[in-house]
Amino acid sequence: MRIVQVEPLSTARALRGPFDYLLPEDFPEVSVGTRLSVPFAGRKLDAVVVAIGDRSELPVERLASPHSVLEPSIQGDLVGLALWLAQAYCSTPARALQLVGPPGGSSLAGPKLRLYATITDAGRVALGGTAEQLTSGQRAVLEALADGSLPAADLAAGHQGLRRLEGRKLLELEKRTVGRRPPASLIDPGRLRPDLTDEQSRALAEVVAALEGNGGDHEFLLHGVTGSGKTEIYIGAAERAIAQGRGVIVLVPEIALTPQAVARFTARLGDTVAVIHSALSAGERRDEWMRLSSGEARVCVGPRSAVFAPVADLGLMIVDEEHESSYRNDGDPGYDAREVAAWRARSAGAVLLAGSATPRPESARRLKRLRLENRADGAPLPPVDLLDMRGVRGVLHPAVVEALAEVRRDQGKAIVLINRRGWSNFLTCRSCGRAWSCPDCDVTLVLHRADATISCHHCGHSEAVPEHCPDCGSASVARHGAGTERIETELAEIFSNGEFPVMRLDADTAAKRGAGERTLADFQSASAGVLVGTQMVAKGHDFPDVTLGVVIDADATLRFPDFRSEERTFQLVAQLAGRAGRGPRGGRVLVQTIAPETRVLELAAAHDADGFLELELSRRDALGYPPAAALVRIVCTAADEDAADLVADALVEAVEQDGLELLGPAPLFRLRGRSRRQIVVRSVDREALVKAVDAAVAAVAGKPVARGATIGTSVDAG
Ligand code: ADP
Ligand code: ZN
Ligand code: ZN
Repeated sequence: MRIVQVEPLSTARALRGPFDYLLPEDFPEVSVGTRLSVPFAGRKLDAVVVAIGDRSELPVERLASPHSVLEPSIQGDLVGLALWLAQAYCSTPARALQLVGPPGGSSLAGPKLRLYATITDAGRVALGGTAEQLTSGQRAVLEALADGSLPAADLAAGHQGLRRLEGRKLLELEKRTVGRRPPASLIDPGRLRPDLTDEQSRALAEVVAALEGNGGDHEFLLHGVTGSGKTEIYIGAAERAIAQGRGVIVLVPEIALTPQAVARFTARLGDTVAVIHSALSAGERRDEWMRLSSGEARVCVGPRSAVFAPVADLGLMIVDEEHESSYRNDGDPGYDAREVAAWRARSAGAVLLAGSATPRPESARRLKRLRLENRADGAPLPPVDLLDMRGVRGVLHPAVVEALAEVRRDQGKAIVLINRRGWSNFLTCRSCGRAWSCPDCDVTLVLHRADATISCHHCGHSEAVPEHCPDCGSASVARHGAGTERIETELAEIFSNGEFPVMRLDADTAAKRGAGERTLADFQSASAGVLVGTQMVAKGHDFPDVTLGVVIDADATLRFPDFRSEERTFQLVAQLAGRAGRGPRGGRVLVQTIAPETRVLELAAAHDADGFLELELSRRDALGYPPAAALVRIVCTAADEDAADLVADALVEAVEQDGLELLGPAPLFRLRGRSRRQIVVRSVDREALVKAVDAAVAAVAGKPVARGATIGTSVDAG
């Protein structure tokens, strides 16, 4: 008797599997990870086999049988990963299993088919002799096929003509799947395969020793200053793993913004690389997933979701720019791809290699550190000046204007970072003080001058720029603060001409597929110019001719009231600084701030990542923040304030227990018309904490008080 335990892929939180099913005698072979179509509560659901056995707690007569097996199946070890993930992030097995399944689930796009013609032996004979009667057209077709097969569309004959030849057995027609490959990158990958520096060789040797099973450490943090050539080490290690016949996963932050890293991997490792990312068409995604699943491709490069790629016999897990917050998934499950990567690597016996110039404090504490102290080309890191903006009128410090003028004169390039898109971040009425805010969220509306709207950056609400104040009728409206759009315009007014273009990169300009990469490619190939943008401009780009970096408002990230604000500020300034001075012309960095004595900024200006890590770890130890303790944030939303309070109180009551410290409930700003409350739970015992929260959420979610409410959790988020 074959009994399988399956998890139906239903998104209902209250539903808790696994459920037993009986396999009939003639049912095909199944294993952990096989996808099934099963009858469930009167419906037909997709499900995944999570265990196999020969007994059930229920009487066999009461067990239903699956309808059928669904292709393709999920790699067995990824089922284990999903079940762990569901638990670790207070989610459900069904939601976690969806992450490791084929893209699109059962509604996944079918393979693309193309008709091919192949000459037969009889066809060759006919071609050689004269006995068989061939028209000149038919002869031409068979001649074209002399070397084997061709797509039917490439032959100078219609469908009917080909079918006629097929009928005479002179050729065969068959449909073949053709792989859809993502379009090639626009970005120039740069210089390939340099001789490694001594530092690079030493770091690579340690990783290789781990891959070969020598040496104790299996989890590394490649802490190398910006421009130290970390990518060469990733590639060298990947080549070694591939030579061992093992698979590799390379996680990169947002793929549209890191085309260069992707281009380098594909240029060096070739066809064995599959790229998975959200901007691919459904068909491309499916085909890349299948190439991995079949083993045709052994390396997967992609953003956080690539941590679930079906790479068999994983040998190496790389996390590039490991400090990036995009590794965290905001949805449900609210997983952190870096933690998932570490778990998967450990359970597969693979080597974990995370890298950054500005690593997270928790990684610095936990992983074996490999250091690259120098830039690969031996150039020094650029000097960084903090500019005091107190008392300065306008958004640009005179020293910044002067430095940009110099860059234009020398026909160089500059990158200007302002971490806010739009024109002004809010509008007020000059006579009555009214502020324009979102009707559905408690935030101000941001002015976007190009399309004459004010819009909410949280829900997308947008309205026309007001001409009068609806409260007092005044026509005088004040604009406060600056965003990317305004800086772009101001710079264009001062500097722009044909030889010195001003380009902008932010969520607005990069909204269209490929647009962000286009802007980066334009900036890369321009002979001179300025790139203005949000943090997108501070990603790992390697443009050697950038001689000036500017941060407009370095304090912006410090104003966020959470325990990661210091970390974010340090990373942003240090990363932007890392984009400048990568070439023979050197470079410099200017940082505008209203608090130049801030320790984090001083450390960033001194490129002192070690000093920052030390300071930050001691602060977190003292205050009980990760990694000293674990934090789970629970956010509930409801239709109004009272309902939100009730759910929050129920959650507090359910989660309260010895060893857990509770903060809140605290109100969060209203979002999309929903009232929100936040509870933070802290403990030094991570496992107990997660278990307690999971149980509390499940209990409250099933209560009447939670009807119409949503409850979400995230672990160790800022
Ligand atoms: P990181 O990721 O550490 O910031 P990259 O991997 O982008 O640095 O490398 C920075 C630049 O240095 C790239 O242009 C790369 O081609 C170059 N590079 C890397 N290693 C070497 C080397 N050993 N010799 C010369 N150039 C190198
Ligand atoms: Zn008014
Ligand atoms: Zn809104």
